[in-house]
Amino acid sequence: MFRLLIFLFLLVFSGGAMAQEAPDWTNPFPPYRIIGNIYYVGSQGLASYLITTPQGNILINSNLEKSVPMIRGSIEKLGFRFSDTKILLISHAHWDHCSGSAAVKELTGAKYMVMDADVPEIEAGGKVDFGRGIKSGDSAASQYQPTKVDRVLHDGDEVRLGDTVLVAHLTPGHTKGTTTWTMKVADAGKTYNVVIVGSPNLNPGYKLVNNALYPQIASDYERMFRVMKSLPCDIFLGAHGDYYGMQAKFARMKEGGPNPFIDPEGYKSYIAEREGTFRAEWAKQKAAVQ
Ligand SMILES: [Zn+2]
Repeated sequence: MFRLLIFLFLLVFSGGAMAQEAPDWTNPFPPYRIIGNIYYVGSQGLASYLITTPQGNILINSNLEKSVPMIRGSIEKLGFRFSDTKILLISHAHWDHCSGSAAVKELTGAKYMVMDADVPEIEAGGKVDFGRGIKSGDSAASQYQPTKVDRVLHDGDEVRLGDTVLVAHLTPGHTKGTTTWTMKVADAGKTYNVVIVGSPNLNPGYKLVNNALYPQIASDYERMFRVMKSLPCDIFLGAHGDYYGMQAKFARMKEGGPNPFIDPEGYKSYIAEREGTFRAEWAKQKAAVQ
């Protein structure tokens, strides 16, 4: 009975403002080449990408602090050196994608490049939850080590290393500086447009109406969907594998045949479905305050 009470207590007090770790975030996943010079080095639930070039490598998403040794192991299993990581990028300033950044910087000397509107959050270590419109001072679980940003990015900026050019698209709403990365990748004589989705999602408790800490949140979501729909996409990737059915596609890739990560239709239908969910929630919240 006592245990049950503790369980209920934890359930009540952790389900609200406090961030919770999903079990698949720390489950290992085999590293693999997605296409061209793009590799998957994340866990089952948290995506990290390694983009290799002759001048060193780019890592997208450092994930949790405890993910860093796993990411390093994945990079080494693929035959690359962790110390060759020259640039560190993120999908957005939430703890599940950026808590390991301080460790990655320290271990590799990589330059940390973050979208302007996410920089204050990164350098404060996740003190504000804009979406919920709350200071998350008492929700220590969603905070991380404040990390110095080496280059502040603006919408449309290019990140270049070797022969690779990544473009940073501001796709705000989920956080003020959520970033969708695009690049071109060459594979077997063809060139493909890659889109790494930052996040089109509403977290539980997100306030789209009367959000004092993020007044323009709803119009930012609208802007984000406009940008997402304008991006040409052949290779559909994102901050979490479940955006694009990563595990099922990996299984199909192992069977051979056409590369399952080439999925322009999957991208379009995912964005359309997410926009529908956003618009329904926004309408519900607007109706509730009238
Ligand atoms: Zn997030």
